[in-house]
Amino acid sequence: MEKKIDLRNMTKEELAVFAEELGEKAFRGRQIFKWVQSGADSFDEMTNLPGKLRERLKECACIGRPQVLKRQDSKDGTVKFLFGFEDGNAIESVFMKYKYGNSICVSSQAGCRMGCTFCASGKLGLARNLTAGEIISQILLAEKETGEKVNHIVVMGTGEPFDNYDELSRFLSMVNDKDGLGIGMRNITVSTSGLIPVIGRFAEDFPQVNLAISLHAPTDEVRSSMMPVNNKYPIGELIAECRKYTEKTNRRITFEYAVVKDVNDRDEDVRRLADLLKGMLCHVNLIPLNEIKESSGSLKAGSRERAIEIADMLEKRGVAATVRRSLGRDIDAACGQLRLKAD
Ligand code: SF4
Repeated sequence: MEKKIDLRNMTKEELAVFAEELGEKAFRGRQIFKWVQSGADSFDEMTNLPGKLRERLKECACIGRPQVLKRQDSKDGTVKFLFGFEDGNAIESVFMKYKYGNSICVSSQAGCRMGCTFCASGKLGLARNLTAGEIISQILLAEKETGEKVNHIVVMGTGEPFDNYDELSRFLSMVNDKDGLGIGMRNITVSTSGLIPVIGRFAEDFPQVNLAISLHAPTDEVRSSMMPVNNKYPIGELIAECRKYTEKTNRRITFEYAVVKDVNDRDEDVRRLADLLKGMLCHVNLIPLNEIKESSGSLKAGSRERAIEIADMLEKRGVAATVRRSLGRDIDAACGQLRLKAD
C-alpha cells in the first residue's frame, strides 16, 4: 500500500499545492493547514471541507501524532511528557507555567550526537532527526493533555537543533504562521551547544528568534571536558561568532551556565567568564547542575547560594546574570532522564 502523506509535516504553501494536486482550489490547503495546526486528529472534524475531499484525504493522507508514553506532573504545574513515535523512538517535552504565560521545551532530535557529559539525552547517541511536524506535535499534544495554551517555546529538549537545521527552519516558519499556532518569533528561543557555522545562517533567517548558547565553562580545557563540541568549535571562535550575531541582529544572546561544584564555579572561573563576555549584548542564565546518575557521579551540582554569588560577581563586572528558577524538581526534570528510564 502507498505510504500516506503526513499533513502535520506540511506548510501552508505545500498544502495549497497538495490541494490543487487533488483537483481542489488552493485555498482548501489553507483550510486543511488551519485544522491540522489546531490539533484536529481526524478528517471528519474538518467540517468546512466538502465531504468528497474529506474522503479523498482519508485515502491518501494522515495526521501523524505521537503517543503519550508517560506523563509526570509536578506540584508546581510543570508537566513532563515522554512521547513515542510509530518507529519506536521516544522523546521528551516539558510544559512549564510561568507568570508571563505557558512555555514548552521541545525536542528537535531523537537522541543527540553531541555527547555532553552532564546530559542524559546524549547518552544513547543520535537515533534520528525529528521532522518539523513531529516538533509541532509536541506542542499540540501538550496543549491537548493540559488543556492550556502554549505562548512560549524553547527548543532546548533532546537534540542539537542546529544539527537538524532544515527541519528546525520549517518548524519555526510553521509555528509562527498566523493560520497555525501563531507564536511570535520573539517568544521562541533556540538553544545550541555552539555549532558555529549555523549561527550566522540563523541570524540571517530568523533574526527575531532568541538564541541561547550552552556555554557552561569559561576555558577550552573545562568546556571540552564537559562538551566535546568544544574541540571542534573552541570558545574563542564561538564568542567571536556570538559578538557578530549580536551586532548583526541587535538581539541579546543568553548564555546558559550549569554550575558544577569545583569545576566551573571558582572565583577565577567567574573572572574569566566576565572577561570573555564583557561588552557583549548578552545575559548569563545560571542554574545549579541537574545531576544525572549516568555521568557516574563525577559532576556535582553547585549550590543555589553559589549560583547567586556568581550572578552577583558577574553583575559587578558589568555582565547581566540571573539564577534560573528550576521547575519540576519533584519529577525527573533533567533532560533525557525520562527517556533513559523508559528504555
Ligand atoms: S546537552 Fe543538548 S547538545 Fe548536549 S548532549 Fe544533551 S541534548 Fe545534546
